[in-house]
Amino acid sequence: MRRIHFLTPDMSQPITTPFPIKRASRWNSLYDENHLQPLVSVFMTQQAYSRICVHSVSDINNEVGGFLIGQWCLSKNHEQFVVIENAVPARYTRQGSTYLTFTQQSLVDIHDQIDANYKGQKIVGWYHTHPNMGVFLSHYDTWLHNNFFPEPWQVALVVEPVSSTGGFFIRQPGGILDPTRYSGFYELDGNSGRNMVYWKNFNQPEEEKGESNNE
Ligand SMILES: [Zn+2]
Repeated sequence: MRRIHFLTPDMSQPITTPFPIKRASRWNSLYDENHLQPLVSVFMTQQAYSRICVHSVSDINNEVGGFLIGQWCLSKNHEQFVVIENAVPARYTRQGSTYLTFTQQSLVDIHDQIDANYKGQKIVGWYHTHPNMGVFLSHYDTWLHNNFFPEPWQVALVVEPVSSTGGFFIRQPGGILDPTRYSGFYELDGNSGRNMVYWKNFNQPEEEKGESNNE
């Protein structure tokens, strides 16, 4: 089978920029301190998060999904991270209650949308929902991720809109992708200083709780 890559010509190099930790709130999954070694950290803007949440609850009988758009970055300490600046619902998908597939037309369309609206940004991954099914990657999801999003730093987000849970699936050293254990992420807050994330399976580290009250 011919492999279809979501690659644009500028996909080969990360941007060197500081880890944006000052504007970020950490959300840990229950697996984060249990030997997960994600190759990249994920930072997600509130704009992207709210777009994904709105899309995710728009159909709780069928899976929906789309693309995560932003930057692949490298800190001066050689830590890799991705910044999800926008989430773009995929058009021309095929989906049912337990599956979602991107079509050739979906791929052409997202490249057109990046050219038109998100110049200079990369496809840093994809998201899709699992209504009433839990947070994991199915065999097909893993196949899709490895074939359509083959870069080591590209990530998969699964959202369970009924239970309000989610999780990032990120490759580990050697390209290992654990289909059941997901990572947390950093919420990049806007100017409000208020957290938006309400997924019930994430927790803030103790030392970060309440920090926004002191600023
Ligand atoms: Zn799935």
